[in-house]
Amino acid sequence: MERSLETQVGQAVDAWLAWLPRWEPANHRGRVAPCRRCFGSPVLSAAGLGADVPHGVQHGLSTRVKSIVDHAVAEYTSRNLPMLQTELDQQAARNRRRSYRPAEGLEPEFEGMPLDPEPEPGAPFLFTLTGLAAEEDAAIPALPPLSDAAKAALRQEVGLADDYANMIGREVCAVLLHHRLRIQAAVAEYVEPQVAAMLDDLSRFLDAPFDPRDPGPLAS
Ligand SMILES: [Zn+2]
Repeated sequence: MERSLETQVGQAVDAWLAWLPRWEPANHRGRVAPCRRCFGSPVLSAAGLGADVPHGVQHGLSTRVKSIVDHAVAEYTSRNLPMLQTELDQQAARNRRRSYRPAEGLEPEFEGMPLDPEPEPGAPFLFTLTGLAAEEDAAIPALPPLSDAAKAALRQEVGLADDYANMIGREVCAVLLHHRLRIQAAVAEYVEPQVAAMLDDLSRFLDAPFDPRDPGPLAS
């Protein structure tokens, strides 16, 4: 029997709580574009992980919860939406022909994150993981085109799958409300001290008086 949504969300929060003590602030440059999965996410606001929480902390939870919703929608689709299921099966078969799939099989903390770091201005990379994957994708023949009637039917099924995803999303948010306290306790224990220490370092660095013994960059 399928586990209930309550159980699945509880287990996702458990897994995230077990991972959280290993979280460390990223020391690379922050991403420029906001994460499409986390930015303004109703899941994160239900969980009480607001914009003041570092993105890596949010992403680990929003990805785990997203996979619950995805799984429920996949079940619903396989039982009720034959056209969409066929389309998804064909796309999956096409994907399996690619030998290089850098975005798959990642840990929840990395899944959905950009594959490549932000390029520095004026210093483009020789190649990127995204570029390599796209090159290989272009080499595999596209799926055969659909008739207009098939497209319309498919669009209708996609709409139903969307509605179902929204419904599950709302249920998941309602369940998450019950986990807020332990989520917030864990953030207070493992995240806030590290963020406070970072801000402390930063203000010490900004307050540091000019050191006359330091010859500075122009001395050499
Ligand atoms: Zn994210």
